[in-house]
Amino acid sequence: MVPLLLLSLLLLLPVPAQVLPLPNAGDVCIVGAGISGASTAFFLTNYTSTSAAPQLRVFERRPRVGGRLGTVTVAGDHFEAGGSIIHPRNLHARRFADLLGLAVETGADDDWLGIWDGTRFVFQTLRPPPPGSSWLRRKLHGLLNSLLLFNRYGLSLLKMDRFVQEMLQRFMLFYNGTDSRPVFVTVEEMLKWTGLYGLTRRTLGEELTDAGLNSRTISELVTVITRINYGQSVRISGLAGAVSLAGSETGLWAVKGGNWQLPAGLLKISNATLHLQEGIDSITDAGDYYVLKSNIGNEYNCTVTVVATPLDEVNITFSPPISIPPRKMQHTHTTFVRGFLNHEYFGVSSSSDIPELIGTMELPDIPFSSISVLKKYNEDDMTYKVFSRAKLEDGLLDQIFRRRKETIRINWAAYPHYEAPEAFAPIVLDGKQLYYVNTFESAASAMETGAVAAENVARLIISRRRGLEPHIQSFLGDGDEEEVRLDL
Ligand SMILES: Cc1cc2nc3c(=O)[nH]c(=O)nc-3n(C[C@H](O)[C@H](O)[C@H](O)COP(=O)(O)OP(=O)(O)OC[C@H]3O[C@@H](n4cnc5c(N)ncnc54)[C@H](O)[C@@H]3O)c2cc1C
Repeated sequence: MVPLLLLSLLLLLPVPAQVLPLPNAGDVCIVGAGISGASTAFFLTNYTSTSAAPQLRVFERRPRVGGRLGTVTVAGDHFEAGGSIIHPRNLHARRFADLLGLAVETGADDDWLGIWDGTRFVFQTLRPPPPGSSWLRRKLHGLLNSLLLFNRYGLSLLKMDRFVQEMLQRFMLFYNGTDSRPVFVTVEEMLKWTGLYGLTRRTLGEELTDAGLNSRTISELVTVITRINYGQSVRISGLAGAVSLAGSETGLWAVKGGNWQLPAGLLKISNATLHLQEGIDSITDAGDYYVLKSNIGNEYNCTVTVVATPLDEVNITFSPPISIPPRKMQHTHTTFVRGFLNHEYFGVSSSSDIPELIGTMELPDIPFSSISVLKKYNEDDMTYKVFSRAKLEDGLLDQIFRRRKETIRINWAAYPHYEAPEAFAPIVLDGKQLYYVNTFESAASAMETGAVAAENVARLIISRRRGLEPHIQSFLGDGDEEEVRLDL
């Protein structure tokens, strides 16, 4: 027990910062300035009337915004190093680009694909017609490629397409108006409402086998796509797999100059105070607010805190501790090489016989997931992007490449290592005002899924701050049509 005299002396001491009345009563603090954090800031601002807009603070431990979106420069050209392609039906990303006035570019739909089994190309599409070819020649080329693919994979191609379209149709429900779309408290609710939850319970391989795809299509074409997009095999969960397959469709686009401009622009128009190079080390529940301590010795009192980064490899101390299911991140090593591939490594007679996109099957001795040509300067000088699960040492690169002028390596904690059935961390981490956007990544990791999860978190914050405990049934049942612009 504290002696009475000591207690009265303690009462005379200056009150420590943590117990002062909340100075910034409206502060909403967001940890992470990637697309999820930036989208959260954007939607919070967008759904709140100007007079009641919260003071937003966004903390980013790195000197730049974007997180897993960023470019590298090779020979004066910028190339996407992380998230590169956006699906035409990713409506948030599209709206962001339009709103920010960002120019976009669509990729070529006629990649010259070769599927490599470690010794030979088991399948190849036709090499594309030279640039500037006539419309007719390009059409004919597309048609012949379709015939080639159909000849090898048959009706499985149509079944694969149906599987992806069904997923996309359900995913589009996330863009329904706020009057017909509930605010969700858990990822499970989000997925059950769209009918996508079942896909997270089983592997992609199981789902596609049930959908009637033959084993050749799964072990070749589907595997190539999951290895390129998620660095993993068809043992990933079905939803991540379907999202990955959607990433092989036509009409994919990117922001000219780099997708990182999406989060950068969103943060700007949200009027958020951006704290660059200020990592958050700890988040402490102080009753009505949280104390965030940063790695440069600052403390911030935040009534609402949003964690917009995967918690699996970052070191943030929570007091009291939080409990989330264990999740591993899949590391993808992205290696940019300017130089020239070695045709002997690929067992072909000349370098001009090497496809421009090399996809690989799931076999133990293949050291990379894919190699793609990013830019051709001339016949023996190109920039390539190589994805692999482990670092590619110089010795190995010297076998794969005949010549290397420049090599840039990035080791990304890229996306979750998917394992069906997936377990989801809560969106509300402590039952109070501590939110976690990146729990949704256990369903599928992409720029758009980050934005979809962020929009829900923004709506959840707004409705809970107003004393509305959203519940999926009541929200659906009573046709509550408020929101669009709410006061915090
Ligand atoms: C190689 C690769 C290829 C990909 N390809 C595609 C693709 O083609 N299309 C697609 O849609 N998606 C793709 N993705 C996935 C996509 O990039 C991610 O899903 C998305 O960018 C994640 O955004 P985020 O904001 O949720 O997380 P992040 O981008 O990881 O942002 C989190 C931010 O939080 C910061 N941070 C972490 N801890 C702290 C802390 N303690 N304090 C302060 N800041 C902190 C980090 O520095 C980071 O900037 C790819 C990813 C990789 C790596």
